[in-house]
Amino acid sequence: MTENHNPEIGSGTRTRAIMEAYGLTFKKSLGQNFLTDLNILNKIVTAAEVSDADDVIEIGPGIGALTEQLAKAAHQVVALEIDERLIPVLGETLADYHNITVLHGDILATDLSALIAEHFDGQHPVKIVANLPYYITTPIVLHLLDEEADFASITVMMQKEVAERLTAHPGTKDYGSLTVGVAYSTDSEIAFTVPKTVFVPSPKVDSAIVSMKKKAANAYQPKNEVNFKRLVRGSFMHKRKSLWNNLLGFYGKDENIKSKLTLALKAAEIEPGIRAERLTVGDFVRLSDCLEDQGLSPK
Ligand code: SAM
Repeated sequence: MTENHNPEIGSGTRTRAIMEAYGLTFKKSLGQNFLTDLNILNKIVTAAEVSDADDVIEIGPGIGALTEQLAKAAHQVVALEIDERLIPVLGETLADYHNITVLHGDILATDLSALIAEHFDGQHPVKIVANLPYYITTPIVLHLLDEEADFASITVMMQKEVAERLTAHPGTKDYGSLTVGVAYSTDSEIAFTVPKTVFVPSPKVDSAIVSMKKKAANAYQPKNEVNFKRLVRGSFMHKRKSLWNNLLGFYGKDENIKSKLTLALKAAEIEPGIRAERLTVGDFVRLSDCLEDQGLSPK
């Protein structure tokens, strides 16, 4: 596919040469920590299970280190970069690959369904792969999970601490509304951790690759998805309070509401004195449905 005789973009020497040749500086405000380790780059492609049967969306290609490895493995790659300075650079560093489209844009303002319909043929599963900009890791993950877009998986690098929150088990300190949101629509796990030393410049924190595989669309079907999501957020509002006290906070405290809440909790077989961190996604779905049966809506 390529006649490129340069060392690969993800090697330290080539990265330095590209940065120098284009007079580029790293923009800290855009989370620009570029990967300079070919072994890690290839491990990401392997963890994402990308093959030539797949199309890939990459968020934040930088100067193209991961994009190049993805293009070698995938059918088509669309890479979306917010930093305008890098668009012409990517045009040159990736010139030898004919299965890459570089787009200038902000992932948080991008309609993924439209992007997929416009750039892919619909014949290949779409996988999202990225070394994420850490300043907006959580908004990006929430944006991807909120999208109705038809993609198969998300495999992304993030701060290790956030990775631990996303993949936490019920009853642990890292378990929260973000964990429940991820577990609602995906099966997630930490694929591997990554030391600070493989980036330029080195970030202050260690990193991890999280793999999130979309669950079947009907894995959980709450009666009212909007209210289910509000219930999850509200239940973790004050993490040290009991579920009961958090529920009173956003359903209301009058006696009529209290008795309906009691009936809903009883029907869902959930102890009011429990803390939200002990509830699984299935528990939240059951409770949400029982609250609907009582005609209760969060305020
Ligand atoms: N993929 C490259 C690598 O692994 O070396 C660069 C990763 S760097 C951690 C994050 C990249 O995301 C940067 O290139 C940055 O400019 C880009 N970026 C930051 N915010 C973005 C946004 N909202 N939408 C798209 N790209 C963004």
